[in-house]
Parts: sequence; structure tokens; C-alpha cells
Amino acid sequence: MKQVIVIGGGIIGLCTAYFLQKEGHRVIVIEKGDFSQGASFVNAGFLSPSHFIPLAAPGILSTGLKMMINKNSPFYIKPRFQKEFLQWAWAFKKSANQITVDKAIPIYKELILKSTQLYKELKNEKAIDFHLENKGLLVLYKTSKYEDKENKIAQRALKEGLQVAFLQKNEVKKLEPTVSENLIGGIHYKNDAHTTPPEFMKKIKHYLVKKGVRFQTNQKVDTFVIKNKRVAGVITQNKTYNADEIVIASGSWTPLLLKKLGVKLLLQAGKGYKIDIHKNTGVQYPALLAEAKVAITPMQHFTRLAGTMELSGINHKILKNRVTAITNLAQTYYTNLGVKANHLKQAQCGLRPVSPDGLPYIGKLTKYKNVTVATGHAMMGWTLGPITGKLVSQLIANEKPLVSLELFHPERKF
Ligand SMILES: Cc1cc2nc3c(=O)[nH]c(=O)nc-3n(C[C@H](O)[C@H](O)[C@H](O)COP(=O)(O)OP(=O)(O)OC[C@H]3O[C@@H](n4cnc5c(N)ncnc54)[C@H](O)[C@@H]3O)c2cc1C
Repeated sequence: MKQVIVIGGGIIGLCTAYFLQKEGHRVIVIEKGDFSQGASFVNAGFLSPSHFIPLAAPGILSTGLKMMINKNSPFYIKPRFQKEFLQWAWAFKKSANQITVDKAIPIYKELILKSTQLYKELKNEKAIDFHLENKGLLVLYKTSKYEDKENKIAQRALKEGLQVAFLQKNEVKKLEPTVSENLIGGIHYKNDAHTTPPEFMKKIKHYLVKKGVRFQTNQKVDTFVIKNKRVAGVITQNKTYNADEIVIASGSWTPLLLKKLGVKLLLQAGKGYKIDIHKNTGVQYPALLAEAKVAITPMQHFTRLAGTMELSGINHKILKNRVTAITNLAQTYYTNLGVKANHLKQAQCGLRPVSPDGLPYIGKLTKYKNVTVATGHAMMGWTLGPITGKLVSQLIANEKPLVSLELFHPERKF
């Protein structure tokens, strides 16, 4: 039994704590916030085998650059002459090629499917009673350009063994009666599922407390205690905590902590927004609105709109024009969303930790053998929480990991 410190109480940190406590370790989660906000609370709640193509895919740069010209677009990069950002951008450009992506797809898909399955097992175990619906995900489009684009992805998904249905307009209407007349069709990805993130975060934390996991809230890890090539502990503003093993699951802030250990990690924060609206929207299925790049999810007591990828460093500034753009665009796909001014006022944002190839960083550092890194999940961190937690617990137990971790090593070269 080991004393393990997990730095970061997002979905990755909490799922890691879950699997570590199951193995009998003493776990302390240290979180600089108060467990009420951040990427793990504001996300769209999709569990998405349909997203088997990593973010850094061919074509993304040209699409992204075109979109950036429009200030309301779903994608934005703040140009910066900052060394870390330029290195990340160069590595992203190098990774966005077909050979790299084709190599990643089978293992990435396996990771996603296993994680979705772990959510289902967690639900079936009934120890944590949370909202999980297995209705799949719709991708809806209004233009033949996006019909072509989405159909190609769906054909690839079929080849990869996923369950996919190609829907005509009338078939979309049967599933989702409140969609707009201007839709021309959709894709139904049947392996996908959806959840209500703030509910799950609250319930898993409550469960972990009952199981003896200690939580240190509003405690920021500032630096580390290093002894004999091991990290013997972490130092916060209040206290030093000793540990046998350290897990850095600190999302977009991970490079700042790793810098203190003399380790460089290429990672950028990708800001996204959510707007929660009332339940009576009539929306039945979670969906991705293809042209708008907006996600919509019927959650437990509300409907959530989510979108944008803003690479502008670590900040939580809410850009009103982007929030308005998300809601305006979403309302062109549905007849009954009824977005009100107070919904917009309560919009929140979160920072996705984005690696240059869109794949997570999961692995032990070579410099300090008792430090494991678990971050970089970009748009898929909610889906990949449970499998990441499981893999980290296997690394700490020196067991063979359930999924090969070669492609995900935090020291991989780009
Ligand atoms: C709008 C939006 C929609 C999304 N939709 C989906 C979706 O539908 N499906 C999906 O799979 N993914 C989705 N994502 C992505 C997903 O939410 C993220 O990848 C995931 O939440 C990242 O989790 P994390 O635990 O790595 O990071 P975080 O949730 O950011 O948690 C890291 C925590 O570490 C803490 N921390 C950092 N530094 C320190 C320190 N020094 N000391 C103590 N604590 C520290 C931070 O306060 C933070 O709480 C979405 C993201 C956004 C923003």
C-alpha cells in the first residue's frame, strides 16, 4: 500500500483516485480550486467513440485558419511570440498528417471504447448513482459540404467497427422532432453515450470521501521536495505532504508544475464555453451541430450548449460575442431552444489541456520514477477519465497496462 498524492481534482484526478483507492492505496487529492468549476464541470458530457480521429488531423489547420478570420468563429488562436506556444504550434503542424493519424486511430479508439465501457461498469456497480444514457450521438448538418465531410468520417467509423446509421431528414425528424426545416440529414453514432458532468463530479467525490480518500481543497501545489532522484513530497502554501508516488493530473497547468521538475511538456489551454438552458427544449438526443461546431446535450435537469476552441493561454475571460455566437448558431438547428438573456449571463468556460497531436499524455517520467503524468486529453478528457485512472493505477502497481501506452508517453517526440 502506497501513499499517493494526486495533484488536480478534475475528471482525470478523481478517476485516478477512484482506481487507486480500489487497489488499497492511501490517496490525497490536492486541488487549487473548490471543485465547482473548470473543464471537468463545463464540458458537454459526451462519451464519444465517434471521436476516434485525434484532434490534430489533416485539414484542421486550413479549416482553423479560415475560421479565425471571423471573430465569432468556433476556433481562435491568439497569435503570440512565446517560445512554448510556438514550439507547440510547430509540433501540432507536424502531427497533423495522415500517417501519424492512421497510426494513432486503432489504439486511440481502443482507449475510448474501454473508457466508455468503464463508465457503464461504474453505473452497473450502483455504488455511484449517476446519469448515463446510451442513446448514441447525432451529428446534424444543413449543407451538402458538411454532409460529404461527415459521411466520409462515418464511413471510416464503420470500417473501424463502430455502429453508425446514415439518416435522411425525415429520419432525423423522427428521432428529434424539434429540429429545424433547414437540416438536410444526420449521422447516428450508436456506441456513444452521454452524462451530466457536474452531477458525476459531485457524486464521485462524495463516494471517494466515504472510501477514505483525503481532499485538500483550495490548496495550490507550488513546488516539490526532491530526494535521491525521487519526488518525496509536494509543497502547498500551507503544508508539505509526503508521498511514495505523485500523479500530476493538473490539466492545462501541468507544464507549469513539470517545469519545477525540469521537465518540458508541450501543452496549450483550449478554452471552451457552456451555456445551460432550461429542460423544456424538447431536445432528446445529444448532438454535434456540424457547421456550427456546437455540442448540445440533454442533461439531467437542463440542456447544455457547448463550443469553441480558443487557444489564448491560461485565462478565464468570457468573450461575450463567442457565447452569443454559440447560442445563435444552435438556434438555427432547433425550433424550440428558447435561449434567454439570463442563460447567456451565466455562461462559464473551461480549459481543455491540448497536446500537439491531440493524444493524451499518460506515463511515468524517466527522470523521477515515482511521478506519473496524466493530462493532455484535449476534447476527450471527459470520455477518457476512467481508462486514464485505471492505467495510472496499473503504472503505479508496475502491472502491464490494459492498453499499450507507447503513443501516449509524456516524453514522446513530435
Ligand atoms: C466546453 C467544453 C466541452 C467539452 N466537451 C467534452 C465532451 O463532451 N466529452 C469529452 O470527452 N470531453 C469534453 N471536453 C474536454 C474535457 O472536459 C477535458 O479534457 C477534461 O475535463 C480535462 O480534465 P482534467 O482533469 O485533465 O483537467 P481539469 O478539469 O482542468 O482539472 C485539472 C485540475 O487541476 C487543478 N490544478 C492545476 N494546477 C494545480 C496546482 N498547482 N495545485 C493544485 N491543483 C491544481 C485545477 O484547478 C483543475 O481543477 C470539453 C471541454 C470543454 C471546455
